[in-house]
Amino acid sequence: MRVAVISAEAVPYSKTGGLGDVAGALPKALKAVGIDSVLITPCYLQTKGEYLWNTAIEDLNVDWRGGVYPAKAFYSEANGSPTFLIDAPSYFHRDSIYGYTEDHERFAFFNHAALVLLKRIGAAPEILHLNDWHCGFAAVELAEKRRWDPFWRNTRSVFSIHNMAYQGGFSNSELWKFGFSSDFARGAFSFNGFASAMKAGLEVSDMLSTVSRRYAMEIQTVENGYGLDWLTRQRANRLIGITNGVDYEVWNPATDPELASHFSIDDMAGKQACKRDLLEAFSLPVEMNRPIIANITRLTAQKGIDLMMQIAGEIVHAGAYVISLGSGEKKYEDFWQSLRDYAPRQVGVYRGYSEPLAHRIEAGADMFMMPSKFEPCGLNQMYSLRYGTVPIVRAVGGLDDTVQNWDAVNGTGNGFKFGPYRADRFLEKIYEALFAYGDPDTWSAIQRNGMSQDNSWENAARKYVDLYRWTLD
Ligand code: ADP
Repeated sequence: MRVAVISAEAVPYSKTGGLGDVAGALPKALKAVGIDSVLITPCYLQTKGEYLWNTAIEDLNVDWRGGVYPAKAFYSEANGSPTFLIDAPSYFHRDSIYGYTEDHERFAFFNHAALVLLKRIGAAPEILHLNDWHCGFAAVELAEKRRWDPFWRNTRSVFSIHNMAYQGGFSNSELWKFGFSSDFARGAFSFNGFASAMKAGLEVSDMLSTVSRRYAMEIQTVENGYGLDWLTRQRANRLIGITNGVDYEVWNPATDPELASHFSIDDMAGKQACKRDLLEAFSLPVEMNRPIIANITRLTAQKGIDLMMQIAGEIVHAGAYVISLGSGEKKYEDFWQSLRDYAPRQVGVYRGYSEPLAHRIEAGADMFMMPSKFEPCGLNQMYSLRYGTVPIVRAVGGLDDTVQNWDAVNGTGNGFKFGPYRADRFLEKIYEALFAYGDPDTWSAIQRNGMSQDNSWENAARKYVDLYRWTLD
């Protein structure tokens, strides 16, 4: 089976969040289970030159907006599987990956260029695996082309939702510029008087998936459907949830090159060295018995920062260290800074994005808090589990699927989990975790339950293969 994965970001070429991790790792995992896959992603200004192995296509002439866009395509296998990176400087050589008023045009172009490239490089894929709103355009183009272009006749589409909250809305009046002028295409995009790339992908793709089982149900509700819950309900028999995997070649405390010392479930000594290293990195006094509660995230409302703001003072008074790595909305950045000013001997803050620091925090912290409002899958809780860092999460989306609440009577559970989006419920779980931390045997049991959980990509890749087969049937 031949699969083409198309994504707006993919590790190591680009990443702003979980989509990048998933799109980078899935093709490699598919290859490992015998699937012939190719990844197509843009070449951004941020994509490191060392990852661009060679120029595969010098003259990828893309028919675009009535003319020809002279793009190029680089080739690489830096993510462990064949990848083409579309180089279109006016669209992708910018200061950031997203955030421009014409993002819809940038990704409409990317989608069309990806299809042009696939036709250029050989036989059509049987599965076109599209990801998030950025790929809604290709879903429609494929559905249209299948009717008259024999090249695409046997290609089927799978559309994966990584975050329903971002829908790629724009004015209907622009559709014709991107080649979408048929009634079919206009109808597919049309949503409340606008055009929505997410809606188009959901409506016309052959099969739908999302990144956890619980989220597959949540996006069928008014609360998490962002106006499209009627459509996900309508297509529920074609929608499945597959929990993301973790790339254990990148996130493995026994081999992670970023760590001060290595450790594993059988030998935890190194975790103490990592804790010391982390405290020193943040210029905090080294008191090894004080627990570290950490957070790494994009600072947006989705991630439950409002709940953290409400209880941060209590956590500090309870005696724990608090460490935050993240950037985003100013009010949240200001909050972390003011907490640091309030308790400089207990609070460490790094405003920005740092992959190496993310690894050191996962290894050195004792607990990881993730009280998200909604969380399609979430990756950090899974990294935490593997690094013996106990997650404290809200029971939503993938957090609910991957974290089980600690049960002291039976000795089961790998973390602490609360339900309602309320600061008092969150604080209760923090106190429970601090209490459990006080008993080394209990703590070690919780850590071991987490470290032995298998969230590998191999499991997830096999489920995707089943989905692809199901789609072709
Ligand atoms: P989302 O995709 O909603 O941002 P996920 O938990 O699925 O959330 O994935 C977030 C990914 O981005 C994780 O790999 C996390 O470590 C990483 N990340 C987020 N913010 C930062 C940051 N400031 N520095 C380093 N890594 C970050």
